[in-house]
Amino acid sequence: MTQSSIFSRILTGDIPGEIVHQTDRVFVLNDIAPQAPVHLLVIPKTDQYANVVELAAGDPGLLAEMVATARELVPGDFRLIFNTGEGAGQTVFHVHAHVLAGELPEGSLGER
Ligand code: AMP
Repeated sequence: MTQSSIFSRILTGDIPGEIVHQTDRVFVLNDIAPQAPVHLLVIPKTDQYANVVELAAGDPGLLAEMVATARELVPGDFRLIFNTGEGAGQTVFHVHAHVLAGELPEGSLGER
């Protein structure tokens, strides 16, 4: 039996995490170790896809929803990063998009 990912455990409330937004299929966390003024993680609620290659093959619509969520939350320009594989720095094998950007307009994501 595989263990739930750390992100699934945050979603179920088993461990603390700062969920700033969610829809039926994705949720968004503030990264605990931010690398930019805005560093969000956009994560599918399902943990069945380990990385973006699996997700693109298995559910491209869900991948598109992740991108649309980043677009919705960050009004300006942003970087979207999917670390894919241990050698590329992936540490959590539940697909997630890093969304990196400068400061957001005040109030865009609620209290931060
Ligand atoms: P990656 O290295 O691409 O797999 O990204 C995993 C990310 O999850 C890292 O940027 C971590 O800082 C972040 N992270 C790990 N634990 C938490 C947590 N409890 N809440 C928010 N972000 C986390």
